[in-house]
Amino acid sequence: MRYRRSSAVVLSGLLVATLGTVTSPAAALGKPTATTLAGLAAPEPNQVQDLTVKQADGFATLAWTPVDGATDYQIERTLVDDAGTATGPATIVGVWRPNRQINNEEPTFADAGFNPGDRFQWRVRARLGTTEQPYSLPVSGTTTAPWGDPAVPGQNLRTQWETTKAAQYTSDVNEYAYTAAIDERSDRVRIVEIGRTVLGRPINMFVIGYPTPPATPAEVAATSPLSVNCNVHGNEPGDREACLIMARQLAFSDDARTKDLLSHTTVLIVPTVNGDGRAANTRGNSTGQDLNRDYSLIRQPETFSFVQMLREYRPVAGYDGHEFGNSSAGDLPMLPPRHQNVATSIFNESQHMIEGHMYEHGAKDGWWPCPYGCNGGGNVGLSEETILRNTLGLKNVVNSLLELRSSGGATRPDEGNTANNRRRKTFSALWTFNEFLDYHRANLDAIKQARTEAITFQASNSSRIVFRGSHLIPAHPAPHPGEAPPPANAPTEDQILDNAPCAYKLTEEQYNGTRTDGPGGVGFTVAQRVRAHGWKVVKAADGYVVPLAQPERGLIPLLLDAQGAEELVGAERVYPSGPNRHNGPLVVSGVTCLAGATVNGPITVRPGATLIATGTTISGPVSAASAAGVFLADSTVRGPVSVTGTSGAVALVDVAVSGPVTLAANATGADLPLLAGNTVSGPLSCAGNSPAPINLGLRNTVQGPRSGQCAGL
Ligand SMILES: [Zn+2]
Repeated sequence: MRYRRSSAVVLSGLLVATLGTVTSPAAALGKPTATTLAGLAAPEPNQVQDLTVKQADGFATLAWTPVDGATDYQIERTLVDDAGTATGPATIVGVWRPNRQINNEEPTFADAGFNPGDRFQWRVRARLGTTEQPYSLPVSGTTTAPWGDPAVPGQNLRTQWETTKAAQYTSDVNEYAYTAAIDERSDRVRIVEIGRTVLGRPINMFVIGYPTPPATPAEVAATSPLSVNCNVHGNEPGDREACLIMARQLAFSDDARTKDLLSHTTVLIVPTVNGDGRAANTRGNSTGQDLNRDYSLIRQPETFSFVQMLREYRPVAGYDGHEFGNSSAGDLPMLPPRHQNVATSIFNESQHMIEGHMYEHGAKDGWWPCPYGCNGGGNVGLSEETILRNTLGLKNVVNSLLELRSSGGATRPDEGNTANNRRRKTFSALWTFNEFLDYHRANLDAIKQARTEAITFQASNSSRIVFRGSHLIPAHPAPHPGEAPPPANAPTEDQILDNAPCAYKLTEEQYNGTRTDGPGGVGFTVAQRVRAHGWKVVKAADGYVVPLAQPERGLIPLLLDAQGAEELVGAERVYPSGPNRHNGPLVVSGVTCLAGATVNGPITVRPGATLIATGTTISGPVSAASAAGVFLADSTVRGPVSVTGTSGAVALVDVAVSGPVTLAANATGADLPLLAGNTVSGPLSCAGNSPAPINLGLRNTVQGPRSGQCAGL
């Protein structure tokens, strides 16, 4: 299945064609053109025409009419005073190449790197091969000053990076002061400390909503929030500065767009998950661990905190900010979650976010997104589930990596100046994150649909397991930003498990035993990590059972199977036992797995027992009283379902029930009973469950009344 493509590309092509047929006859009729109206000389051969400039936060978009046969274009910028007199040298600051954008008919270039607020003149010239053609007529303009009215409290806050004109990055101390000042002055912002680094630095998160952010993580989760992780590699600080500026814009902007965005969702911004690495300007944290190789294993307090935050706040979409040292790549390499255990719907929607939204808007505003690794970027952008991009995908979050090309390279020839280089990177990130907000606002229904399909797919436990290996990123015909995607990275035979188990069983030692893989040789136990991920676990007589009939099914085997590339433990694979067809009543004791089974009769789950059923048809009621665990997914029950007094975990996902469904007095501790995407021909009633059931945004279809704790599900 191809990911969905917006029709806007096709539409914009049609519009160009339509406008062409309208304007040509007008010109033929001898109507005056803009040039003759202005009394200017006729253009020279191959001279760029119709140059315009538009200002935005930290960049200026230049646009012009293409010259036939042009190989590329050079963009010249000159500092000028108010009278238009040059006060600095004319410098080539940019080179436009055809593979920058999807519609070559309307070239645009986002010039950035200058000091915001200064005034410039720009000219553009084509090159045929390496032969320079005449410059366009100049355009000039005053660039947009740093965001926020200096006379308005809150808006007038500035980061250290802004006040030093990018000479210094914002320090930890300055970040905390700036963050606290925003928190204090804006009702829209709440700062939450989601954890601490190894060296004890707070890991803060902006929680931003309008007029105020929802009060609790669960209430935030109900708004389908989006998250931006700004700085996991301490020596890649460009995105973090963009995040700090964006937080101020969201906190204090009174424009309609911002209020609309924040009225419909909650924005979660983690500026510095790796504060120790940032302070030391190192890639890893203080132990040397690359944290973006640790989001599945969560050996470190930084990644552990972040994953717990994901469990609590449940963002539906995300961006993860980095810098990338390939000077021949685009401005903004991006990449979706590619691990093959990521549901196709999540992969497709993430690709749509990049190619359908970022490529299109990049072409309008002049930025250059491309697939990570683009243009000779090497063997990067693969399937490690330890990388946040993939971890998020395996948690059913639509998301992308963002890389800011760290070197100027051939297309940014004036970035030997450090401040110019830093400003280009940070303002390109600010553009991307703002576009991400707009994408979320415009596509939330599609994101939710992708998530619904993903969660039902994962809980069905119906496909092979791939330990490493990627979804293919197809190449696009040149010239196109997608012409050079990362390697195919298909799984090898030994990275595939065709016969997926129904669950993993861990021994007491595996589950609660001491671990030495954390800082100072002390690690979180497997039990703590399983809880941080939010996985459902059942205590059985001889160990701990983690069924695959749950939303993060794609990630679980990567950590609990000995065949995993970077597993936590090699737990026992539990497979269905007994016949696939059962006639008459079935009484479940111990742990019973049914996969693709037919039960012609009722099922009774005995006290302390666990039922795990996927793809199963049950002709009769299902009743569980004081069970350890009940997992039903992708199944049909011809009769009522009653689950009461469960002690471990409950999950009913995508089950068609002919009859009432009752969940009562389940006391499952840390586990949130899951009732998601079911079809119930009868009443749905929930009472006395602790904690109350949730649906992860997958609304149940219920013929009868919904009552008690399930009234909103
Ligand atoms: Zn990085």
